[in-house]
Amino acid sequence: MTEFTLSLGSNVGDKAENLRRAIERFGTEPDISIITVSPFYRSAPWGKTDQDWFVNACAIGRTRLSPLELLGRCQRIEADQGRVRGVRWGPRVIDVDILIYGDVELETETLTLPHRRLFDRAFVLVPLAAIDSTRVIKGRRVADALAALPDGGADVERMDHMPAMVLETAIALNPMEERP
Ligand code: AMP
Repeated sequence: MTEFTLSLGSNVGDKAENLRRAIERFGTEPDISIITVSPFYRSAPWGKTDQDWFVNACAIGRTRLSPLELLGRCQRIEADQGRVRGVRWGPRVIDVDILIYGDVELETETLTLPHRRLFDRAFVLVPLAAIDSTRVIKGRRVADALAALPDGGADVERMDHMPAMVLETAIALNPMEERP
């Protein structure tokens, strides 16, 4: 089993519900277990700024899948939730990225690990720091990377959602032997 961390985002429809559904779906996959879910955060659009605000979160899980198989699973879950790939950094029902997969570092056409833009984006680092601030990725502590952002992530606002409920749902749906 390898521990991995996902970043999830949505800016179409019921954004928080889209995230909740995606996390729940990961929890029902037989070879994936979700062990921690961050709070949900509201963030301004990044890259392409003339679009609606996002809800973002991070989740830590464990899997028997290879990195590429996990990417395929992320993309299938995105597609099943109605994601149509269109404008780069454009509106999306659900976006799921793999931030880290164990200590694996790789760069292929389809997958870069750790995620190429992990350190650039407050909407990734703020949720990640909420559940794994002491993690060192490519020699940088998550909390230090967040503090080094120009505004320290101040424009990423925590929403009063209860991800613990998401987590309970995921666990109830997918009891796995190795879960703590
Ligand atoms: P996006 O539109 O932001 O979801 O980008 C998805 C594209 O990024 C896909 O074609 C993936 O093959 C590629 N990609 C590269 N590295 C990663 C990663 N760590 N997690 C998810 N997608 C990745």
